[in-house]
Formats: sequence, structure tokens, C-alpha cells
Amino acid sequence: MAHSQDILGQLPLLQSYTHAILCFQLASNTTPTIDLESAVQRLLTLFPILAGQVIKTGASPTSSGAYQVVPYPVRKSPIIRYVDHRSDPQIPSYNTLRTAHFPFNQMPSTHFSPPHPVFPIPYPDTDLAPVLDIQANILNGGFLLTLAAQHNIIDASGIFQIASLLARLTRGESIPKAEVTEGNLDRQDLIPLLDDSQPLRYDYCEYLPSFMPKIPPNLTELFPTFQWAYFHLSRRAVEAIYAEAAVPSSSHSTPVQITPNDALTAFIWQRLTLTRLHHSPSPLAATDVSKISRAMDLRRTLHLSPAYMGHMIRTATLRLPLGEITSLPLATLAAKLRDQVAELRTLDAVRDYATFLARQPDKSKIAYSGGGFQPATDLSCSSIAHVDYDRLSLGGAMGRCEGVRRPGGGVLPGGCYIGPAGDWYGSVGDEESRQETGIEVLMCLDGWEMEGLREDERWREWVDEIAIIGSGLIGTLLALGLLNIPNSNPTTLRIKIYEQSAITHELGAGIGFTTCARKCMTLMDPRIAECVAHVATLNGEEEDPDYCMRFVDGFRTYTGGDCWGTSKGGEGGGVDVRGIGGEHYSEGRSEDNNNNNNNNRGGENEDRGVHIFGKVYKLYTGPRGFEGCHRGQFLDEVMKLMPEGVVEYNKRVEGYEYLPSGRIQLGFSDGGRVECDLVLACDGIKSLIRTHLYPETKPQYTHQFAFRGLVPMSTAISKLGRYRALRQHMHCGPRAHVLHFPVAKQQLMNVVAFVQDPSDWMHSGMTAPAKKSEVVDAFEEWGPFVRAVIDLLPEELDKWAVFDTYDSPVPKYAEGRVALVGDAAHASSPHHGAGAGMGVEDALALVTAIRRAREDVDRGVEVNGALEAALKAYSRVRYERSQWLVRSSREVGWTYEWMDESIGADMDRAFADIKERSHRVWYFNVDAMVAEVERQYRWCLWN
Ligand SMILES: Cc1cc2nc3c(=O)[nH]c(=O)nc-3n(C[C@H](O)[C@H](O)[C@H](O)COP(=O)(O)OP(=O)(O)OC[C@H]3O[C@@H](n4cnc5c(N)ncnc54)[C@H](O)[C@@H]3O)c2cc1C
Repeated sequence: MAHSQDILGQLPLLQSYTHAILCFQLASNTTPTIDLESAVQRLLTLFPILAGQVIKTGASPTSSGAYQVVPYPVRKSPIIRYVDHRSDPQIPSYNTLRTAHFPFNQMPSTHFSPPHPVFPIPYPDTDLAPVLDIQANILNGGFLLTLAAQHNIIDASGIFQIASLLARLTRGESIPKAEVTEGNLDRQDLIPLLDDSQPLRYDYCEYLPSFMPKIPPNLTELFPTFQWAYFHLSRRAVEAIYAEAAVPSSSHSTPVQITPNDALTAFIWQRLTLTRLHHSPSPLAATDVSKISRAMDLRRTLHLSPAYMGHMIRTATLRLPLGEITSLPLATLAAKLRDQVAELRTLDAVRDYATFLARQPDKSKIAYSGGGFQPATDLSCSSIAHVDYDRLSLGGAMGRCEGVRRPGGGVLPGGCYIGPAGDWYGSVGDEESRQETGIEVLMCLDGWEMEGLREDERWREWVDEIAIIGSGLIGTLLALGLLNIPNSNPTTLRIKIYEQSAITHELGAGIGFTTCARKCMTLMDPRIAECVAHVATLNGEEEDPDYCMRFVDGFRTYTGGDCWGTSKGGEGGGVDVRGIGGEHYSEGRSEDNNNNNNNNRGGENEDRGVHIFGKVYKLYTGPRGFEGCHRGQFLDEVMKLMPEGVVEYNKRVEGYEYLPSGRIQLGFSDGGRVECDLVLACDGIKSLIRTHLYPETKPQYTHQFAFRGLVPMSTAISKLGRYRALRQHMHCGPRAHVLHFPVAKQQLMNVVAFVQDPSDWMHSGMTAPAKKSEVVDAFEEWGPFVRAVIDLLPEELDKWAVFDTYDSPVPKYAEGRVALVGDAAHASSPHHGAGAGMGVEDALALVTAIRRAREDVDRGVEVNGALEAALKAYSRVRYERSQWLVRSSREVGWTYEWMDESIGADMDRAFADIKERSHRVWYFNVDAMVAEVERQYRWCLWN
């Protein structure tokens, strides 16, 4: 016998399926063990309608016919379609999906759902249409259970009731009799219709537009630039929006009891409308009208409980001019939405609407949400915010449902679903934190609408915003690390860099990164480390790379044995290293002693070019341990990873202040102001923020400057010999030292010549122009090799003042929600070649701490407290090591320049000192640092 169905479900445009994907985490490689099959059998026995199929009867040119449920051909077991995706390389693991918060585009119905289209895509009349279909998806580390219910017969509340019944049956629970009765209610007369003689009270003209397409249009083809995306709002945000919207509205004489759902809907409508007014490619006027339609569940009006599974939805629509929507107080807008729902939810209004539907033989002419829908201005909302995930826990090892997703299908421009956020927004599984994960809004918008909304100030208020000052190396890498936080959906964590220059730039000189710095980069975002690999320049030959740093006496000219003297007047008088046999000193791998000697490109003792005299002290760095890169090239590569709009140029920060709201306001030299929650000052050695925080601290001139220049490698090879030109060397000597290494894929040799300077640095900037003759004079008494290197430099040079914070260290790196990072916190002289590396370690520590804080905020921990704890933890963990670097860098510089009283010019002892200090820089336990940051963060949060 055919079952007649709800009149509200008789619209042909509902000839589709409503879906829900339930997500369950499993221990990795566990196969789900519950007996779903028996639970489904029991479900279908208790509720025979769910075992049926939907047919359309009585359709004719003038009638759309009726949707009925009839028996389905007996289903073969298993009823459920099981799909094991574990060996499919196309399907990510559960945890990969979870970490990304199950993005809409990674949950396509084609993979995870039974083969029925997702509403609003219709299925053809020729399809067999079971009332309920189920697909169980087994993934590495998780399980996705997808229910698909025919939408004329089951509405969104109905599908969650089915999920709850099924869950309880898998847990071995019995279903209360009242629920069974309600689920099996005869659906025909639930809404008592008006007599034929009674006129309709409401005007339904707009439900019958002059034109309704016979075949529903393909929306995905019509709106190719629309996409779905989830926006997460934490409980903090939801509470604040509700508090704002729940104040009595001045336009209502009697207080209107709005719901959190009204408040959120009003908020979304208002912010989206503002975005549309400002950003629409086809300009909109304030007088243009927007229609909002909201799906209303009418169960309560009809004294039905949530156990009723039929189709009990109609929409309430409200039209307002765009200008009014954007200018009304949120409370007034929410009250208007509530008024509209309240009016249509009365029993009289429901009977009237149902009678209207019943009296229309051809319901395909009825516009579901009253009138046409304009994607450019309208919004259609539906809420499942009441769904309790605890009711969806499966039996056996499956446990709690972490959240629900809608499978990816076609677009529904202006569509919006509001639902509880999944557990993936909170990492700790206790009950309280689960309650605090907030809500998610799934919206289908045009690309510019998504962007505009993300830029909207009020929308952003509920999104923590981090302001990074300075797009030097550290600011840039830190931003990329933060953007790569798994939870850092740009809708919930906004990162902005404010840079005073017109472009991101690094001066064209070399920089080297240690293995440790590269590991930190990988942990923040593996693509950053790939950028280093991409631009880093090998030491030595490609087929035989050299993993050593070389330290030599650049000053003395060896005349045999231990004898030495200056080269002045002794040009060519030195003894080639071969002549004092056994003088090589090798650190690290023994094969480095004789590397390249059989190489036809020439080895260490090749005859071409100027020679190095004295011992060569080799310090093993590990494979590709300390390769030079061209700073500009590295930054160019890294900037390719930076999403558009993150860096704002020509924005010089002049100061900041805490606002009464608790937020921080940055002030710019152009008079502009922005608000944010956290300030990360990566503004370099002259940090304005450091001066603001600790006015008494100031970087000092170290009375040393460096001449820096780049030399074409071909010239360097012709003068110095290939072997030496292609390898990094440090030439030590009295009160000066010279460093050179290959950069730019061995096309250039970077030369840095440091000299002591008894005077003060009188130039306004850190650099000043210099002439080659100055360097030549400074090194005129040095050995022939160093003089040959100097001779390669171009006539016009730069000299760089070496400043550091050795004499006036800051007491800590964070105050409140403002932190100093990189050189702003601990500017060191460059003698360890690790100043930037130290900043990269800082960046990883911050990313770790902020990630933890973010997770806590999403679980309801007060935002400012969590962020302050994150910065405190960062400061505690990073302070000692980075301050040590500032001291050690100065000290090792004295060793290079024979200024350490206990070491003097003794190169053996100098090398031992260099080695010990370098190892402390290089062999740093990054994993232990990350663990310590997490530990300190917890401690700072709770103390
Ligand atoms: C000669 C030399 C060689 C070196 N070699 C190495 C090496 O081999 N390996 C290594 O690890 N390190 C090396 N270093 C150290 C390294 O260069 C620095 O530690 C690193 O560049 C610091 O980066 P940062 O982002 O903290 O600061 P910076 O690179 O100085 O960037 C600061 C940024 O902030 C911007 N800014 C400043 N004030 C404001 C404001 N008020 N508003 C907005 N923007 C602002 C600036 O325009 C700039 O873009 C070397 C340093 C020198 C001098």
C-alpha cells in the first residue's frame, strides 16, 4: 500500500536527496567492527517507510503528481554500500581531512556518498529512488558514514533523527515506543487543511512567478565562480554576536525573544550585504532589495517532536533594501527576522500555506522560497545548530561522532547552512571543551564575496588577527608558518604583515642557513625549506660537494715549518701548503683530507691561482650543512608562497596602544590605524616596538664594519683557482677577517671583509658607500690570498656597520600581547652566520605556541589570556639561547681577529674555540624546543 506523504514535501524541486556525512576517528589502520548491517535491518523493521522507495504518481501536463512511498524491491544484504578507500592514493587519510577541518571540496559526494545527487540537483524520474541509502567509508584512521534520504519524504531534521536511531541501535539500545509511534505516524492528515470553501488568508502571488523553468537549471554551469566554504565562529564569537543582537530593539514596543540563530542569521545577512554593496562587480544601490529565506521546522507548531522524520519545512522570507539591512542595529534586524518566523509559524499560517500547496495541481510552478532568487543580493539560510553529536555516537570502538559534513556536489548560490562545529576545532576531547567549539557556517558564495567577507571588519572581529611588523626574512617566514597552522582557516586566524618599504626586498648579499634553521623551516612549512634548497649554492663541485667550513690564517705567510711573517715585501715568498707537508688539519670526515685530489678539475693543491698558506682547518657541517644563498633570490622564492593580500607595503608602524576593548591598535605614519589581537614585531635591529617597550635598550655599534661585495665566479676562479673559489673560507688575522663563499648557483662569490673601527659610526643608515681602495689599504699587510680576494672587489662598494644588542639586552621578548622576534629581540653580530637562523627558531617557537592558543580559543578559553600565555612561553623558551648567540657571536669574532687574550694568534686554539661554539649553534634539539614551548604554554596559561 502506498503511503501518502506530507503535503509540504510535495514540491517537485525537492526531487533530490538530503545528505549527512558523520565523521568518526579511529586508531590508525583499525577496521570498524560494529555490526551496522544488523542495526540497519532493525531500523528498517521498526520504520518500514525507510525501507521503501519513492515514486511519483498521477503526473500529467497539468499536474505535478504526488510523491509516495511504495515497497522497494527486496534489498540484498549488505544494505549498506561499504567502500574501503584505504588503498586509494586519491583519498586522503582521515587525519589529513580532519586537520584541514574536512573542507567542502575534499568531501565530494562522488567518493563518499551513495549514488544520489545532493540537493538541489534533481535525479531523473527514471531513477530508482530508495527513501534511505547508506554508504560506509573506511579511511586510514577513520570512518565516514553517509546517509542519503529522499528529500520529498525526509527533511534535514529527519535525517538526523535517522542517524540518531541508527546510532542507538548500534549501541544496543532500544528505541522508546513513543519515538517508534511518532516515526510511523500517518503523514496524510498531519496538517489539517482548510475546507474548499474557506479562502486563503495570505497572498501567495509571489510563490507563483510568471516563469518557472520546466527543467531545473544546472546551477554549477550557470555560476562557475561560486564555491562552498566553511566559516568557523568560536563560542566566544557566537556569544558576543548574540549579546549584541539580544538587546531590546527600540523599534519594537514589546520585547522580541530572539534566538542565537536569529542573531547569527542577522549578522551573516548584514555583513554579506555590506560586502555585496562595496565589492559587487555590477554595482548595487542601497535601494536594491535583498531577500532572505529561512527554512522553518514546523514540528513544534504541529505538536510533533524531533522523532518525526517527514518533511515539515517551509521557508520564511523577508525583503529589505540593502541600505536598510546594513544600517539597522543588529538587534533590530534580528528582531525583524524573528517577527517573520513567528508570524508564519502559527497553526493558522501553516494550515493556510499547506492548503495553498494542496490546491495547486502543478506544484512545479511553485517557487519554494517565495519569488525568484537573485544570487547577487539574496541569501537562503537553513540551520541544524540544534543537532547534538552525542546522540550520533556509534557502538563498539567507533565512539563519538566528531562532526557532520555535507558532501560536495553542485553549487547553490547564496546558500547558507548553520550547524554546530565539529570536535576538530578543539583538540582535547573532554566534554566541556566539546561544548565550546562554536558553530560553522557553510556558505556558497562567489569568489569576490568570500574575499570581501574575510576583509569585512565586523566579520574579522571574531577572527583573531595577528599583525606582523616588517617583511624582512623573519617576518615573512613567520607569516608563512602561521598561515600553515592546520587550524588557521583564514576565516578564523588572519595574518597581516605591515612593511614600511614599498616592496619586500633583501639586499643582494649572501646568507647561510644551518641544518637546524632548515629543520625549523620544514616544521613550519616544508615549502620554505624547499626554497632554500632551490636557491642554495653548493660548496665545491656538484659531483663532489664539500661539507666543510674552512678556517685559515689569512695574515701570516709561512716560510716553512712554524716560521711565519707578514707578507709585506714578501710577495710570493710564502711556501705553498704542499711544501710544509702534513700541515693540513682536517675536521670531520677523513675523506675530506684528500677530496678532489684525483679530480681533473683540480684539488686543494691545484696549481692554478693564488694559494693558501698554512693549515686549512676544516669544520664539518653535515650534508649541505651551511650553504650560502643569495638573500634576494631566497626571499623572491619565499614570497611566491605568500598568499595575496597578506603583506601591506608602505605601512610604517609608528606606535601602538591597547584599546578599552582589549584589542591593540597600531598607528601608521600615513595616519592609518588598524586593530589586532597580537603584535609580532619583526622590525629588525632598529625595532621601533623594542624602543617602545624598553626605551633604555639600544643596539650598539660594535666598532666594526664589513665591506661587502659580489664577484663574478668566473673572475674569482681565474684568480684564485676553481677549488678555492668554489669553497667557503674564513681568513683570520689581526683585528680583521675576510669571509667568502659561493652564492647564486656558483655564479657569484660573496666577499665580506670585516675590519675594526676605533671611530663612531657617523652615517645615518647602517650602510655607507665605500671605495675599493679603503679595503685594499686595510688589508695591505695580509697574505697574498686575502689580497687577491680583495683585488677582485669592484671599485664601488658598500660598507656595513655591525651593530648588536650585546651591551643592552632586552629583559624579555614579550609584554602582554606584543612580542619581539628575530633581530628586533636579539640582534647579533654576523660572526656565527646564524642571526637569521636564530630568528627562524623564534618563528617556529611562536607558531607552536600560537597554534596551541588558537586551539584553546576555539574551545572557549578567553582569547587574550591564551595569546598572552603563548607569547610568555615563547619568550621564556627563546631568551637564553638567543642571548647566548649575541654574546658568542661577538666573542667568536674576537677569536677570528686574534683579539681574545687567552687565544691570541694561536690558530689551533682558535679553531677549537670556533668549533665548540659552532657546534652549540648547529646541534640544537629543535624537537625538544617545540615540546618545551608547549609545556611552558600550558604552565603560563594556568598560572
Ligand atoms: C653581514 C651580515 C651577514 C649575515 N649573515 C648571516 C648568515 O649567514 N646567516 C644568518 O642566519 N644570519 C646572518 N645575518 C643576520 C641576518 O641577516 C639577520 O639576523 C636577519 O636578516 C634579521 O631578519 P629580521 O627579519 O629580524 O630583520 P630585518 O631583515 O632587518 O627586517 C626588518 C624589516 O622590518 C621593516 N621595518 C622596520 N621598521 C618598521 C616599521 N616601523 N614599520 C614597518 N616595517 C618596519 C624593515 O623595512 C624590514 O623589512 C647576517 C647579518 C649581516 C649584517
